[in-house]
Amino acid sequence: MPMQRVSILGATGSIGRSTLDVIARHPDRFRVVALTAERQVDQLAQLCAKHGAVNACIADASLVNALEQRLAEHGSTAKVLSGKDGLLQIAGLAETDCVVAAIVGAAGLEPTLAAARLGKKLLLANKESLVMAGPIFMETVRKHGAMLLPIDSEHNAIFQCMPELHAGEVPPDRIRRILLTGSGGPFRSRARADLRSVSPEEACAHPNWVMGRKISVDSATMMNKGLEVIEAHWLFGVRPEQIQVVVHPQSVIHSMVEYADGSVLAQLGNPDMRTPIAQALAYPDRIDAGVPSLDLFGMSALTFEEPNFERFPGLRLAYEALRTGGTAPTVLNAANEIAVAAFLDGRLPFLYISTVIDETLQSVPRTAVGSIEDVLEADRRARSYAAQVVGRSQSRVA
Ligand code: NAD
Ligand code: MG
Repeated sequence: MPMQRVSILGATGSIGRSTLDVIARHPDRFRVVALTAERQVDQLAQLCAKHGAVNACIADASLVNALEQRLAEHGSTAKVLSGKDGLLQIAGLAETDCVVAAIVGAAGLEPTLAAARLGKKLLLANKESLVMAGPIFMETVRKHGAMLLPIDSEHNAIFQCMPELHAGEVPPDRIRRILLTGSGGPFRSRARADLRSVSPEEACAHPNWVMGRKISVDSATMMNKGLEVIEAHWLFGVRPEQIQVVVHPQSVIHSMVEYADGSVLAQLGNPDMRTPIAQALAYPDRIDAGVPSLDLFGMSALTFEEPNFERFPGLRLAYEALRTGGTAPTVLNAANEIAVAAFLDGRLPFLYISTVIDETLQSVPRTAVGSIEDVLEADRRARSYAAQVVGRSQSRVA
C-alpha cells in the first residue's frame, strides 16, 4: 500500500478527531500533511504536534500569532496559513492525496470544491456543501476526476451496499429505493407541545452519537435527515420519491438499498464514525478502526418507524426544497444554519427553527444554479432574510 498523505479541513471537530484517531492506528499507511480549525488554536497546535502535520491553517486570521505561539510551545514547526485563502491553499496542496472535508456548514463549500477541482480523493462529511451546490459539486467531481467518498454514516452505508457504483454509474432501473435510516434524535417520542422550551443542552444530548453542536440540533429537529435526503439524491442519482426515511432508534443499521428484484442490502455496525471514516480512508481495502465488534446477542431488538412530518417539519421542508430545485436547497440550508445558531445562542425557541426555514423558503425567490456565484448569492440572501425572521420571532415570543 503506498503511503496516503492526508489533509483534514476541520481537524479539531468531532469528525476531524475521529479521523485522526483512525490515522494514528496506521502510521505505515497514512501521513498527516495539514490540519485546519476555525478558532481553536490550542487544540490545533496540539494536534499538529501529535500527528506531525507540516501545515496548519486557522480560519480566523486574527489568531495567526496565537497559533504560531502555541505551535512553538508544543514543539511543532508547521507552516502557518490563515483565512479563507489559507483554507483554499490547504485544500489544494500538491503534496496531499486525500482531503477530509469536515468543516461544519457553508464555510466548508469553497475549500471542499477546491479539493474536488484538483481531482483529489475527497472524503465528504460536510453535507451542507452538497446540499447548497449539488449540481455544481457533482459536475466538478466528474470533470476533474475527483474520487468522492461519503463518510456521513448513512451514505457510506449506501455506498457499501451498492457494489455497482464502484464500477461507475448505477443503471437507474436497478434500484427501487434507498432506505435512509435515522435514530429520530433525542425528541423522537416527545409531543410537539413538550418541545416548546427545550434547551440547547437537551437538544445536543443525542441518544447514540456524540457530534458537534450544529449537527446535534439538526438531529433533534430531523433537519439532519432532510439534508441527508438531498445529499443522497446528489451522491447516488436517485429521485426524491425513491428515498424513504426510516426511523430506527437503535442506530445499528446505517441505511439500506432495495433493488428491483426485492433484495434489500443493509450495512450494520456500532454507531461510531470511525467505521465509515476507516472504510473511506482505506477504500477499497479494509483496516482496523478501533471499533469493537457488534454485540448481536446483547441487543434486544431492531425496530423501525415511519417518520412524522408534522412533529418534524424540517424533514418535509427538505423534501419540498429538493423537489422545487434550483437554489431552494441552498436557501433551506442557509436558513437552517441561521436558525440553529440563534437557537444555540438562546435567541430562538426550538420550535421556531422550522418556522424560520419555512418563511425564508417562501420568501427568497428560487433561481437556477448556473454557477457557484448563483449559490453564494442565494446563500447570502437567505441568511439575511432568515436573520430578519429570527428578529421578528423574538418579538413574537417576548
Ligand atoms: P464540529 O463542530 O465538531 O467541528 C467542526 C470543525 O469545523 C471544527 O474543526 C471547526 O474549527 C471547523 N469550523 C467551524 N466553522 C468554521 C469556519 N467558519 N471556517 C473554518 N472552519 C470552521 O462538527 P462535526 O460534528 O465534526 O461535523 C463536521 C461536518 O461533518 C458537518 O458538516 C456535519 O454535518 C458532518 N457530519 C458529522 C458527523 C458527526 O458524527 N459528528 C456525522 C456525519 C456528518
Ligand atoms: Mg448521518
